[in-house]
Amino acid sequence: MSVEAVHTQCCVVGGGPAGVMLGYLLARSGVQVTILEKHKDFFRDFRGDTVHPSTLELLRELGLLDAFLQVPHQKVTSVAVNLAGESYEMADFQDLHTYCRFALLIPQWDFLNFLTEQGRAFPGFDLRMEHTAEALIESNGRVTGVRSKTPQGETEIRADLVIACDGRHSLIRRCAQLAVKEFGVPIDVLWFRLPRERDTPEQVLGYVNYGKLLVLINRNTYYQAGFIIRKGSFDAIKERGLDALRQALVQIAPFLRDSVDELQDWEQVKLLSVQLNRLERWYRPGLLCIGDAAHAMSPVFGVGINLAIQDAVAAANILARALRSGESTDRLLPLVQRDRELRTRLTQRLQALAHRNFKYIFRPGPLHVSPLVKIILRTRVLQPVLLRVVGAGIVPERIAIPGVRTRPAHLLARRVGALAGATIALGFAYFLLARRRRPA
Ligand SMILES: Cc1cc2nc3c(=O)[nH]c(=O)nc-3n(C[C@H](O)[C@H](O)[C@H](O)COP(=O)(O)OP(=O)(O)OC[C@H]3O[C@@H](n4cnc5c(N)ncnc54)[C@H](O)[C@@H]3O)c2cc1C
Repeated sequence: MSVEAVHTQCCVVGGGPAGVMLGYLLARSGVQVTILEKHKDFFRDFRGDTVHPSTLELLRELGLLDAFLQVPHQKVTSVAVNLAGESYEMADFQDLHTYCRFALLIPQWDFLNFLTEQGRAFPGFDLRMEHTAEALIESNGRVTGVRSKTPQGETEIRADLVIACDGRHSLIRRCAQLAVKEFGVPIDVLWFRLPRERDTPEQVLGYVNYGKLLVLINRNTYYQAGFIIRKGSFDAIKERGLDALRQALVQIAPFLRDSVDELQDWEQVKLLSVQLNRLERWYRPGLLCIGDAAHAMSPVFGVGINLAIQDAVAAANILARALRSGESTDRLLPLVQRDRELRTRLTQRLQALAHRNFKYIFRPGPLHVSPLVKIILRTRVLQPVLLRVVGAGIVPERIAIPGVRTRPAHLLARRVGALAGATIALGFAYFLLARRRRPA
């Protein structure tokens, strides 16, 4: 079999949100970047569909927002949850101070195809599909490239810097032997499609009742359904049979009565294993990890994609100039971790807090919502935190790559937003630290 040898300034492993955004930004900065993606296209269901105001803000800074809004999508102006048959609005994006006061529901393959198309306008953008990274190339303790397999043979990509964006099962971080801190997760997700009948809910809604939680993402003609189950319970669910699963779905969302008949085979139901973890160190000489490869996110709050994109922006801001001029980036790699770590920790901490409440959700029988919880939800006291974490991002990044100038008014608005975010983040950090210090 032939071995193709390539030299590039930056090799990005993984064409998910982090990898494609990073590739776009680096190529736009004049860097020669090769992105390796193991699949032959982006058409897979289990990628999450939410593009939050923080990401839309970045697209606006890049001058891509108008074109992006031409891609078919649905606007989401608020997030709601249905508890025991009653709906509660959790966050209203109209209250944000961002340019776009809505999130978009857009199949992730459309988002990735859009960014890829934009990236191809730059000569340095080299996206290679069906390239599976299999090993790191190292020399004197420094990562100097990646070996990948393709249908045509093997490829050796030599690079000044390798950036792992290969997601929560990252092979690269394993090859690099970077230490991972695991946080236990009590849930997994069953992921499947159900046809969407007319006059059924359009907004994203979580349904909680009878010890079950179902999230329905509206993709016009069908729902992408995420059924949250206890970690490790899929075999038991399978043993009970598809009919029991169909009944469970109808019990919490009765309007699915006709749609569930479409579920005829376990092949239609994918088990997505949820993880929550973080690398202690995100880098080694010649290598950086970002996105889920550095910190696997839970689906709770639907923020992982946006966090991965913010990582990509931070990495491009810090590294683009040095990469372009051929300087060593090793001394800059810790800055990327420093820039992103606190925000990642806070988001993961919030997700872990939410995980703890699954023990209440999984209690069998009809859900009892206490009057206090109802008051909290009705008065939307959690809205500022949710809006920051879910919508605008905790102190969002802004684009600072060569060739992109942020307008002063826009910059001011972002600075004000960032200040508000920092205040909330610090308040939240204080709250968490205070809880830690309290004796058991
Ligand atoms: C069940 C579930 C639902 C979720 N829903 C949402 C949601 O609605 N909204 C949201 O914001 N977040 C959601 N998340 C989290 C979100 O999916 C991740 O945080 C986000 O996708 C991370 O982006 P990434 O680019 O770092 O990695 P990924 O999206 O995982 O992309 C990694 C890419 O690398 C490629 N790859 C992997 N290994 C190799 C290799 N060896 N060689 C070449 N390519 C490789 C993969 O094919 C993939 O394209 C969900 C998570 C789960 C588990």
